[in-house]
Amino acid sequence: MTIHDELGRIMRDLRISVTDRCNFRCRYCMPAEIFDDDYAFLPKESVLTAEEIRRTAEIFVSLGVRKLRITGGEPLLRKDLPEIIAKLAAIQGAEDLSLTTNGSLLASKAAMLKEAGLQRVTVSLDSLDDETFMYMNGGRSKVKPILNGIEAAKQAGLLVKVNMVVQRGFNDHAVLPMVEYFREQGIILRMVEYMDVGNSNGWNREHVVGKQELLKQIGEEWPLEPLAPNYPGEVATRYRFLDGKGEIGIISSVTDAFCSSCTRARLSAEGKLYTCLFASKGYDLRERLRAGQTDEEIADYVRGIWEHRHDKYSLDRGTQGGDEPRVEMSHIGG
Ligand code: SAM
Ligand code: SF4
Ligand code: SF4
Repeated sequence: MTIHDELGRIMRDLRISVTDRCNFRCRYCMPAEIFDDDYAFLPKESVLTAEEIRRTAEIFVSLGVRKLRITGGEPLLRKDLPEIIAKLAAIQGAEDLSLTTNGSLLASKAAMLKEAGLQRVTVSLDSLDDETFMYMNGGRSKVKPILNGIEAAKQAGLLVKVNMVVQRGFNDHAVLPMVEYFREQGIILRMVEYMDVGNSNGWNREHVVGKQELLKQIGEEWPLEPLAPNYPGEVATRYRFLDGKGEIGIISSVTDAFCSSCTRARLSAEGKLYTCLFASKGYDLRERLRAGQTDEEIADYVRGIWEHRHDKYSLDRGTQGGDEPRVEMSHIGG
């Protein structure tokens, strides 16, 4: 089965946030001034259990979802993550199971995650120098543990990509060293334009380094040519190095929005469905799961939501009101 929204987009991907908590305080996501000791994180009983996550994911797969991505907060903080992975990996019809992590706990857990059935991992890393990286993550980690995590993931047989959010004036000087390092490592680096997600990062367009600027900067050092997407709706646009040493990706949600091919549904840690990264409103699936509704009833509810979806925030950026508070990135995981 496939279901289409009002703009003809199918529901193909489900991003599942398994926790709203994180051991980092990245400035662009959970700035430490706001996400402090008094911040009201979700109580344990509000967060979906491993079995509730499995059941929800299976319902989405019955509606046409083929790709599952686990995210957060920091998903590796969740003690039952291997159980969640094993349950998701066993769902018939789910073709791809991946996870996004800050990598800080990956070195000791990569083999276990692979064993549980994880296929791919995206590690977020914003610089290779400690000073810049610590500045970006709120002083929570140096670079070495993340590089160790990446190495452990490779050794475990996981496919690894690295994501770097680029913020002008903060880590844009780190772009070329990152490209050089991961080219040599044979790992695909994807640069992410800094987005106005959530309500707390004080977003300012002047801090966005756009796709064209990145391509110019990198291409002057290592000439590039565009590559076709791996599949329709791929988030990153791909470029290969003309010298044959692999490829990079750019996720240009600000300067070249890709809403027209957005096939992603998002499930928050507390079981709300969001149809856009910039949504203000989520639809409560947890109450339905816990009220004893059948899979068919919940599937009908989700289908109704998707079929009325018309989100295209990034295409409309700056031209609409959007005064309502938006969901935080740490709740739905990017
Ligand atoms: N904690 C994990 C991590 O950092 O990979 C998973 C959750 S994190 C919210 C998912 C992704 O969102 C990360 O790659 C992060 O860099 C990205 N992200 C967070 N805030 C962002 C922003 N304002 N603009 C662009 N990307 C952002
Ligand atoms: Fe945590 Fe990831 Fe957000 Fe950084 S981007 S604060 S690691 S959830
Ligand atoms: Fe999808 Fe919303 Fe992002 Fe557009 S702004 S690509 S609709 S999540």
